[in-house]
Amino acid sequence: MSETWFTEHHAPSGSSIGFRLRAKLHEETTPYQTIAIYDSTDWGKLMVIDGCMMVTTRDNFLYHEMIVHPALYTHAAPKRVVIIGGGDCGTLREVLRHAEVEHAVQVEIDERVTRLAEQHFPELCEANGDPRAELRFADGIQYMAECAPGSVDVVIVDSTDPVGPAEGLFNAAFYRSCQRALGEGGVLVQQSESPLAHLALIQSMRAAMRQAGFGAMATLPFPQPCYPTGWWSCTLARKGAAAIGAFREADAEARPFATRYYNAGVHRAALSAPEFLRAALRDG
Ligand code: SAM
Repeated sequence: MSETWFTEHHAPSGSSIGFRLRAKLHEETTPYQTIAIYDSTDWGKLMVIDGCMMVTTRDNFLYHEMIVHPALYTHAAPKRVVIIGGGDCGTLREVLRHAEVEHAVQVEIDERVTRLAEQHFPELCEANGDPRAELRFADGIQYMAECAPGSVDVVIVDSTDPVGPAEGLFNAAFYRSCQRALGEGGVLVQQSESPLAHLALIQSMRAAMRQAGFGAMATLPFPQPCYPTGWWSCTLARKGAAAIGAFREADAEARPFATRYYNAGVHRAALSAPEFLRAALRDG
Protein backbone atom coordinates (compact mmCIF):
# COMPACT_ATOMS: atom_id res chain seq x y z
CA MET A 1 0.00 0.00 0.00
CA SER A 2 1.48 3.34 -0.95
CA GLU A 3 1.67 6.01 1.71
CA THR A 4 1.67 9.77 1.28
CA TRP A 5 3.74 11.95 3.57
CA PHE A 6 4.13 15.66 4.09
CA THR A 7 7.83 16.31 4.54
CA GLU A 8 9.44 19.62 5.47
CA HIS A 9 13.06 19.69 4.38
CA HIS A 10 15.11 22.07 6.47
CA ALA A 11 18.27 22.98 4.56
CA PRO A 12 20.11 24.87 7.36
CA SER A 13 20.05 21.83 9.65
CA GLY A 14 20.24 19.22 6.86
CA SER A 15 17.20 17.44 8.27
CA SER A 16 13.54 16.73 7.53
CA ILE A 17 10.41 16.22 9.55
CA GLY A 18 7.58 14.17 8.05
CA PHE A 19 3.99 13.27 8.78
CA ARG A 20 1.99 10.42 7.28
CA LEU A 21 -1.10 11.80 5.61
CA ARG A 22 -4.65 10.68 5.17
CA ALA A 23 -5.55 13.50 2.78
CA LYS A 24 -4.79 16.97 1.59
CA LEU A 25 -7.82 19.00 2.60
CA HIS A 26 -7.10 22.44 1.17
CA GLU A 27 -4.54 24.67 -0.48
CA GLU A 28 -4.76 28.31 -1.47
CA THR A 29 -2.43 31.17 -2.27
CA THR A 30 -3.32 34.47 -0.62
CA PRO A 31 -1.68 37.84 -1.34
CA TYR A 32 0.80 36.96 1.45
CA GLN A 33 1.56 33.24 1.30
CA THR A 34 0.42 29.74 0.36
CA ILE A 35 -1.59 27.95 3.04
CA ALA A 36 -2.17 24.18 3.00
CA ILE A 37 -4.23 22.01 5.35
CA TYR A 38 -3.68 18.26 5.65
CA ASP A 39 -5.28 15.46 7.63
CA SER A 40 -2.61 13.17 9.09
CA THR A 41 -2.82 9.64 10.46
CA ASP A 42 -1.34 10.41 13.91
CA TRP A 43 -1.01 14.18 14.43
CA GLY A 44 -4.51 15.37 13.63
CA LYS A 45 -4.68 18.24 11.18
CA LEU A 46 -1.64 20.13 9.94
CA MET A 47 -1.44 23.77 8.83
CA VAL A 48 1.49 24.52 6.55
CA ILE A 49 2.44 27.99 5.28
CA ASP A 50 4.86 28.29 2.36
CA GLY A 51 5.99 24.71 2.97
CA CYS A 52 6.75 25.34 6.67
CA MET A 53 4.82 23.55 9.40
CA MET A 54 2.82 25.96 11.56
CA VAL A 55 0.45 23.92 13.69
CA THR A 56 -0.54 20.32 14.29
CA THR A 57 -3.55 19.34 16.37
CA ARG A 58 -1.41 17.06 18.50
CA ASP A 59 1.52 19.18 19.62
CA ASN A 60 0.53 22.86 19.32
CA PHE A 61 -0.11 23.05 23.07
CA LEU A 62 3.65 23.06 23.70
CA TYR A 63 4.24 26.19 21.62
CA HIS A 64 1.07 28.03 22.56
CA GLU A 65 1.48 27.52 26.30
CA MET A 66 5.16 28.49 26.25
CA ILE A 67 4.77 31.62 24.16
CA VAL A 68 2.00 32.88 26.46
CA HIS A 69 2.23 31.81 30.10
CA PRO A 70 5.88 32.67 30.91
CA ALA A 71 5.32 36.19 29.51
CA LEU A 72 2.02 36.75 31.29
CA TYR A 73 3.35 35.47 34.62
CA THR A 74 6.45 37.66 34.19
CA HIS A 75 4.33 40.81 33.96
CA ALA A 76 3.08 42.07 37.34
CA ALA A 77 -0.49 42.70 36.13
CA PRO A 78 -1.08 41.96 32.44
CA LYS A 79 -4.25 43.74 31.36
CA ARG A 80 -3.58 44.84 27.76
CA VAL A 81 -2.07 42.27 25.40
CA VAL A 82 -1.16 42.56 21.71
CA ILE A 83 -0.50 39.43 19.63
CA ILE A 84 1.30 40.00 16.33
CA GLY A 85 0.59 37.19 13.86
CA GLY A 86 -0.87 34.16 15.65
CA GLY A 87 -3.65 33.78 13.09
CA ASP A 88 -4.44 30.21 14.15
CA CYS A 89 -5.80 31.83 17.36
CA GLY A 90 -4.18 29.33 19.77
CA THR A 91 -2.11 32.08 21.39
CA LEU A 92 -5.19 34.27 21.84
CA ARG A 93 -7.00 31.39 23.54
CA GLU A 94 -4.14 30.90 26.03
CA VAL A 95 -3.91 34.67 26.74
CA LEU A 96 -7.61 34.82 27.56
CA ARG A 97 -7.23 32.08 30.17
CA HIS A 98 -5.71 34.84 32.35
CA ALA A 99 -8.65 36.48 34.14
CA GLU A 100 -6.77 39.77 34.69
CA VAL A 101 -6.45 40.36 30.92
CA GLU A 102 -8.96 43.05 29.97
CA HIS A 103 -8.23 43.32 26.25
CA ALA A 104 -6.29 41.13 23.83
CA VAL A 105 -5.92 42.13 20.19
CA GLN A 106 -4.60 39.71 17.60
CA VAL A 107 -3.06 41.53 14.64
CA GLU A 108 -2.74 38.98 11.83
CA ILE A 109 -1.79 40.10 8.34
CA ASP A 110 -3.62 37.28 6.55
CA GLU A 111 -7.31 36.83 7.36
CA ARG A 112 -7.38 33.50 5.50
CA VAL A 113 -5.15 31.90 8.17
CA THR A 114 -7.79 32.66 10.79
CA ARG A 115 -10.73 31.61 8.61
CA LEU A 116 -9.04 28.26 7.86
CA ALA A 117 -8.20 27.80 11.56
CA GLU A 118 -11.87 28.38 12.44
CA GLN A 119 -12.78 25.62 10.01
CA HIS A 120 -10.02 23.09 10.73
CA PHE A 121 -8.81 23.92 14.26
CA PRO A 122 -12.04 25.05 15.98
CA GLU A 123 -10.60 24.16 19.40
CA LEU A 124 -7.92 26.85 18.96
CA CYS A 125 -10.58 29.44 18.09
CA GLU A 126 -12.93 28.77 20.98
CA ALA A 127 -12.05 32.05 22.75
CA ASN A 128 -12.53 34.22 19.64
CA GLY A 129 -16.01 35.22 20.81
CA ASP A 130 -14.74 36.35 24.23
CA PRO A 131 -15.77 40.01 24.72
CA ARG A 132 -12.13 40.82 25.61
CA ALA A 133 -10.88 39.53 22.24
CA GLU A 134 -10.36 41.69 19.17
CA LEU A 135 -9.34 40.25 15.80
CA ARG A 136 -7.66 42.67 13.42
CA PHE A 137 -6.34 41.84 10.00
CA ALA A 138 -3.44 44.19 9.40
CA ASP A 139 0.33 44.39 9.26
CA GLY A 140 1.75 44.00 12.75
CA ILE A 141 4.75 46.20 11.94
CA GLN A 142 2.54 49.17 11.15
CA TYR A 143 0.18 48.39 14.05
CA MET A 144 3.01 48.51 16.59
CA ALA A 145 4.47 51.67 15.01
CA GLU A 146 1.12 53.42 15.52
CA CYS A 147 0.37 52.13 19.05
CA ALA A 148 -0.02 54.85 21.69
CA PRO A 149 3.03 55.07 23.98
CA GLY A 150 2.69 53.06 27.19
CA SER A 151 -0.62 51.53 26.10
CA VAL A 152 0.37 47.82 26.16
CA ASP A 153 1.46 45.44 28.95
CA VAL A 154 2.56 42.42 26.89
CA VAL A 155 3.45 42.09 23.19
CA ILE A 156 3.53 38.53 21.85
CA VAL A 157 5.13 38.05 18.44
CA ASP A 158 3.76 34.75 17.15
CA SER A 159 4.96 35.03 13.60
CA THR A 160 6.21 32.95 10.73
CA ASP A 161 9.97 32.71 10.09
CA PRO A 162 11.84 35.94 9.30
CA VAL A 163 11.16 35.87 5.57
CA GLY A 164 8.29 37.40 3.57
CA PRO A 165 5.77 39.44 5.59
CA ALA A 166 7.45 38.51 8.91
CA GLU A 167 10.92 39.75 7.98
CA GLY A 168 10.36 43.18 9.51
CA LEU A 169 9.30 41.65 12.86
CA PHE A 170 12.88 40.72 13.73
CA ASN A 171 14.72 44.06 13.63
CA ALA A 172 15.52 46.98 15.92
CA ALA A 173 12.99 49.34 14.27
CA PHE A 174 10.15 46.95 15.16
CA TYR A 175 11.48 46.39 18.69
CA ARG A 176 11.70 50.19 19.16
CA SER A 177 7.97 50.38 18.34
CA CYS A 178 7.32 47.65 20.92
CA GLN A 179 9.49 49.40 23.51
CA ARG A 180 7.54 52.65 23.03
CA ALA A 181 4.14 50.94 23.12
CA LEU A 182 4.91 49.03 26.33
CA GLY A 183 4.38 50.55 29.75
CA GLU A 184 7.05 50.35 32.47
CA GLY A 185 7.69 46.69 33.31
CA GLY A 186 6.11 45.69 29.98
CA VAL A 187 7.09 42.35 28.46
CA LEU A 188 7.90 41.45 24.87
CA VAL A 189 7.98 37.77 23.87
CA GLN A 190 8.77 36.44 20.43
CA GLN A 191 9.07 32.97 18.95
CA SER A 192 12.81 32.64 18.33
CA GLU A 193 13.20 29.47 16.27
CA SER A 194 15.43 26.50 17.11
CA PRO A 195 18.30 26.86 19.59
CA LEU A 196 20.07 24.06 17.70
CA ALA A 197 19.61 25.38 14.18
CA HIS A 198 19.13 29.14 14.52
CA LEU A 199 21.56 30.32 17.17
CA ALA A 200 22.82 33.18 14.99
CA LEU A 201 19.26 34.41 14.51
CA ILE A 202 18.61 34.29 18.28
CA GLN A 203 21.82 36.27 18.84
CA SER A 204 20.87 38.90 16.27
CA MET A 205 17.31 39.19 17.63
CA ARG A 206 18.68 39.78 21.12
CA ALA A 207 21.21 42.32 19.84
CA ALA A 208 18.39 44.17 18.06
CA MET A 209 16.21 44.08 21.20
CA ARG A 210 19.12 45.49 23.20
CA GLN A 211 19.66 48.20 20.56
CA ALA A 212 15.98 49.11 20.93
CA GLY A 213 16.42 49.65 24.67
CA PHE A 214 15.41 46.31 26.22
CA GLY A 215 17.68 45.37 29.11
CA ALA A 216 16.91 42.00 30.63
CA MET A 217 16.14 39.11 28.29
CA ALA A 218 15.90 35.34 28.44
CA THR A 219 15.56 32.65 25.76
CA LEU A 220 13.36 29.77 26.93
CA PRO A 221 13.72 26.46 25.05
CA PHE A 222 10.89 23.95 24.80
CA PRO A 223 10.15 20.81 22.78
CA GLN A 224 8.21 21.20 19.55
CA PRO A 225 8.30 17.97 17.52
CA CYS A 226 6.69 19.45 14.40
CA TYR A 227 9.32 22.19 13.88
CA PRO A 228 12.81 21.71 12.44
CA THR A 229 15.10 19.89 14.94
CA GLY A 230 12.09 19.21 17.20
CA TRP A 231 13.25 21.90 19.62
CA TRP A 232 12.11 25.52 19.66
CA SER A 233 12.37 28.66 21.79
CA CYS A 234 10.82 31.95 22.72
CA THR A 235 12.75 35.03 23.80
CA LEU A 236 11.41 37.28 26.56
CA ALA A 237 12.51 40.87 27.06
CA ARG A 238 11.37 43.36 29.63
CA LYS A 239 11.12 47.15 29.64
CA GLY A 240 12.70 48.75 32.69
CA ALA A 241 15.03 47.54 35.39
CA ALA A 242 13.20 44.44 36.72
CA ALA A 243 14.90 41.06 36.24
CA ILE A 244 13.48 38.84 33.51
CA GLY A 245 13.80 35.71 35.67
CA ALA A 246 11.48 37.10 38.35
CA PHE A 247 7.96 35.88 37.71
CA ARG A 248 4.75 35.47 39.74
CA GLU A 249 5.66 31.96 40.80
CA ALA A 250 2.88 31.53 43.37
CA ASP A 251 0.28 32.64 40.81
CA ALA A 252 1.75 30.29 38.21
CA GLU A 253 1.66 27.45 40.73
CA ALA A 254 -1.97 28.17 41.65
CA ARG A 255 -3.21 28.99 38.13
CA PRO A 256 -6.96 28.41 37.96
CA PHE A 257 -6.92 26.90 34.46
CA ALA A 258 -5.62 23.63 33.07
CA THR A 259 -2.41 23.40 31.06
CA ARG A 260 -0.76 20.36 29.51
CA TYR A 261 2.88 21.50 29.53
CA TYR A 262 3.34 24.75 31.42
CA ASN A 263 3.71 24.97 35.18
CA ALA A 264 5.89 27.01 37.52
CA GLY A 265 8.59 24.31 37.56
CA VAL A 266 8.69 24.11 33.77
CA HIS A 267 8.98 27.92 33.69
CA ARG A 268 11.90 27.90 36.18
CA ALA A 269 13.61 25.08 34.29
CA ALA A 270 13.25 26.88 30.96
CA LEU A 271 14.93 29.94 32.48
CA SER A 272 18.00 27.78 33.22
CA ALA A 273 19.70 28.01 29.85
CA PRO A 274 21.61 24.90 28.76
CA GLU A 275 25.40 25.41 28.74
CA PHE A 276 25.83 25.95 25.00
CA LEU A 277 23.02 28.51 25.00
CA ARG A 278 24.37 30.27 28.06
CA ALA A 279 27.78 30.51 26.39
CA ALA A 280 26.30 31.80 23.13
CA LEU A 281 24.02 34.35 24.81
CA ARG A 282 26.35 35.96 27.29
CA ASP A 283 24.80 39.33 26.56
CA GLY A 284 22.42 38.93 29.48
N1 SAM B 1 3.51 29.00 15.56
C1 SAM B 1 3.94 29.30 14.26
C2 SAM B 1 5.42 29.10 13.99
O1 SAM B 1 6.27 29.44 14.83
O2 SAM B 1 5.74 28.60 12.92
C3 SAM B 1 3.43 30.61 13.81
C4 SAM B 1 1.93 30.54 13.72
S1 SAM B 1 1.03 31.84 13.03
C5 SAM B 1 0.12 30.90 11.84
C6 SAM B 1 2.12 32.90 12.17
C7 SAM B 1 1.36 34.02 11.47
O3 SAM B 1 2.17 35.20 11.37
C8 SAM B 1 0.92 33.70 10.04
O4 SAM B 1 -0.45 33.46 10.04
C9 SAM B 1 1.32 34.96 9.24
O5 SAM B 1 0.31 35.37 8.34
C10 SAM B 1 1.53 35.98 10.35
N2 SAM B 1 2.38 37.11 9.98
C11 SAM B 1 3.54 37.09 9.30
N3 SAM B 1 4.01 38.34 9.14
C12 SAM B 1 3.12 39.19 9.76
C13 SAM B 1 3.04 40.60 9.93
N4 SAM B 1 3.98 41.41 9.43
N5 SAM B 1 1.99 41.11 10.63
C14 SAM B 1 1.03 40.29 11.14
N6 SAM B 1 1.05 38.94 10.98
C15 SAM B 1 2.08 38.40 10.31
